[in-house]
Amino acid sequence: MDFALSEELTLVRDMARDFARNELQPRAKGHDAGERIDPEVFAKITELGLWGLTVPESYGGSGLGNLALAVVLEELNWACASTGVTVSVHNSLVCAPILKWGSTAQKERWLPRLASGEILGAYSLSEAGSGSDAAALRATARRDGDSWILEGTKMWVTSGDIAGLLIAYMRSDPDVPKAKGITAFLVPTDTLGFHVGKKEKKTGIRGSSTVELIFDHVRVGPEAVLGQMERGFTIALDTLDGGRIGIASQAVGIGRACLEASILYSKQREQFGVPIGSFQAIQWKLADMSAQLEAARLQVHRAAWLRDRGEPCSREAAQAKLFASRVANACADECLQIHGGAGYTDDFHVERLFRDARITEIYEGVTDILRLVIARSLLA
Ligand SMILES: Cc1cc2nc3c(=O)[nH]c(=O)nc-3n(C[C@H](O)[C@H](O)[C@H](O)COP(=O)(O)OP(=O)(O)OC[C@H]3O[C@@H](n4cnc5c(N)ncnc54)[C@H](O)[C@@H]3O)c2cc1C
Repeated sequence: MDFALSEELTLVRDMARDFARNELQPRAKGHDAGERIDPEVFAKITELGLWGLTVPESYGGSGLGNLALAVVLEELNWACASTGVTVSVHNSLVCAPILKWGSTAQKERWLPRLASGEILGAYSLSEAGSGSDAAALRATARRDGDSWILEGTKMWVTSGDIAGLLIAYMRSDPDVPKAKGITAFLVPTDTLGFHVGKKEKKTGIRGSSTVELIFDHVRVGPEAVLGQMERGFTIALDTLDGGRIGIASQAVGIGRACLEASILYSKQREQFGVPIGSFQAIQWKLADMSAQLEAARLQVHRAAWLRDRGEPCSREAAQAKLFASRVANACADECLQIHGGAGYTDDFHVERLFRDARITEIYEGVTDILRLVIARSLLA
């Protein structure tokens, strides 16, 4: 067993780390305040080839896989979780399912454009009435000759207002209840009848846009169907296995930023005539954060490694996200506490880390749903 990153992955990590430290972190506060990501950041991500990490070279990506994606996402999220989730969704929720379930024509049409950053991808499963119970979705796809007419309103779509392509999950067979009547459609966002609705005002990851999408008689051809008809829910869940590894990586990145900020402040801040890091109460917090983060990272890397090998990893991905997201929130809480009153102001970025960490326990499977996934696998 080898715990070291390969030479190639070390190079990729160092490249992402340099970018995160030098270009992303200085902009993170602006992303949060301005509720958008600086276009220069998108351009730099394109230059570094981070939009196509899981896309094979034959389709214009780097073909490095899920472990590379996890390693890169930890670095990006260390600096800016808004940028981190944008890259995660694009790679794991859009590129990956097209690669796995798409026809050759769909791969040739979409993957080079996605991998090059020419267009951004978004994943549209959730609706107002169907979050954790995603199979209860009500947006419809009605057959009209050769085409499909998409109708309905989707919620919470990350990057939905800036994406060029959506994977939209629609009820194509109204007579089949829940999971079995759902189909995945590839929908270019310049299709007539497609509108962006409300943009959410969020607690954290405020630079990442989260929007409502309205499908008002959107006509797509048969070439838009991803995988087989009525297999959409299988695709959605399989895709989420990869997505959860991405969000778990996000959690590790945020948690590591909390630990590093805490170490620095513990050395600088003096009370009772000594640095607060000399108090054992502070040392224990740092030690716990470090131990938990190491354990979280190992789970993330193992789940990514399994996915790269094509092995089932639903439980491992759910476990990694369950554990890492709770660790990130625990680290953010302790980090803010270590900073005292200063941590509760925006003079330090720890208040943003505290807000950003919270989402990792909610999207791509709330904590309780992850527990259900894990328990079902254990009891099967
Ligand atoms: C910032 C952000 C970005 C998002 N991006 C996307 C995206 O790009 N694409 C997309 O499709 N969706 C996206 N989502 C939606 C996200 O996946 C859902 O918010 C999430 O699945 C939870 O659904 P819900 O919000 O409806 O909560 P609910 O499902 O209503 O849950 C409410 C509470 O009930 C609990 N609960 C629900 N069911 C059970 C159960 N069976 N057992 C125990 N407890 C339960 C939950 O744990 C939670 O505490 C995003 C959400 C946010 C906030």
